[in-house]
Amino acid sequence: MGSGQVTDWQGKHVTVAGLGVSGVPAAKVLHGLGARVTVVNDGDDPRAREQAAELEALGIAVRLGDGATLPDGTELIVTAPGWKPDKPLFAAADEAGVPVWGDVELAWRLRKPDAAPWLAVTGTNGKTTTVQMLASILRAAGLRTAAVGNIGVSLLDVVTGEEEYDVLAVELSSYQLHWAPSLRAHSATVLNLAPDHLDWHGSMEAYAADKGRVYEGNRIACVYNADATDKPSTEDLVRAADVEEGCRAVGFTLGTPGPSQLGVVEGILVDRAFVEDRYSSAQELAEVTDVDPPAPHNIANALAAAALARAFGVPAAAVRDGLRAFTPDAHRVAHVADVDGVAYVDDSKATNTHAAQASLAAYESIVWIAGGLAKGATFDELVAGAAKRLRGAVLIGRDRELIREALARHAPEVPVVDLDRTDTGAMLQAVQEAKRLARPGDTVLLAPACASMDMFADYNRRGEAFAQAVRELGA
Ligand code: ADP
Repeated sequence: MGSGQVTDWQGKHVTVAGLGVSGVPAAKVLHGLGARVTVVNDGDDPRAREQAAELEALGIAVRLGDGATLPDGTELIVTAPGWKPDKPLFAAADEAGVPVWGDVELAWRLRKPDAAPWLAVTGTNGKTTTVQMLASILRAAGLRTAAVGNIGVSLLDVVTGEEEYDVLAVELSSYQLHWAPSLRAHSATVLNLAPDHLDWHGSMEAYAADKGRVYEGNRIACVYNADATDKPSTEDLVRAADVEEGCRAVGFTLGTPGPSQLGVVEGILVDRAFVEDRYSSAQELAEVTDVDPPAPHNIANALAAAALARAFGVPAAAVRDGLRAFTPDAHRVAHVADVDGVAYVDDSKATNTHAAQASLAAYESIVWIAGGLAKGATFDELVAGAAKRLRGAVLIGRDRELIREALARHAPEVPVVDLDRTDTGAMLQAVQEAKRLARPGDTVLLAPACASMDMFADYNRRGEAFAQAVRELGA
């Protein structure tokens, strides 16, 4: 199938691996182009049967309960991004010389020849926020754009739809990048890299390498995190990438920017990369207070978004206007209320330790509400780093003991309330306990560092329960 656009799908045997949010639309689009589509799916549950019936009615073959066997005659597999590379289906494909594309690769290959370029964002945390900030900046510059990809708006819909765009702000997960070998973004960023999804990728090196694919073939700028201390750094990933001639490495930093960097000087976001002379001039873009919330990790997101927009030629004033117009999605370091001089902040979306670390770094004196499903994480580094700023901690959820032990090791003087509860109503009690521990000027921060599914349907529900409990305190 080469690496270019496929113009003639007529009669091509394509196997779509996995029903669901990417498989069903992919099967329909390919069928519509004239391909002979077979969908294979591991599960055979009522939901799968419903989806299968819908596809079969269109004339698409579906095999439920068998995601391992490669259908005869398959010329291409289009896989759901979450399918692990070590699945037998892919071993069979490899043996037969059949290429495997993910949902993003398919969208990339189906783009029209003169389609809008992609500004791509990946990283362990902050992807959605950054892509939304970027889209807001591009809109402020008068460009036709959309925030798409791993954030609920399907790339496939956008590239095959009628609406015309000047540029797309694309969020990509490490899984999607793994399965997108020929993607070539205009410019891209890896925001940060912390261990995540290692069970899927097999190792930190493999995870980093998949993230680093976002830089392959960049034309204008590879945007990296100049403050990152982890190895490999995002700058290492830029160095390893094969880019177009003339493409620049551009760093973002919370400190004073050097040449070819964006950074912060006395509360001002400053560009020393996309200016006439990066050795002698600098361009003011916006103020730190234009960013909502103005927490350090979010300033980093804003700088990365600004760098990508500037790489696309957006003027400084649009960066400021776009950042001002941006409001974060719910449950991401959201200020809920002040009660008796104490601020209550909902970062329910902090479902891993790296995210929780960012919001814990943003406040001076914190009563921390944490716990839930740890997903194999350890908490020593997180707790040791935050110990100085903890007024107290309230623990909920199934794996709270892991956090309690880390607190005992690294912050033995911090008072801890262990609620020993995993029911939904525990949040009200958690907030009441936090209020008891807090002093005026403190922040009560829900940053669980864990997934929510032991107690709540999802992180949204957990955040809503927190906000509701805070409202009851105030009432
Ligand atoms: P993603 O799409 O990568 O999951 P989000 O923008 O939805 O990222 O943010 C998820 C959580 O990650 C936020 O609630 C916040 O706690 C944390 N976070 C956001 N940006 C960063 C960052 N740059 N570094 C570390 N943590 C971050």
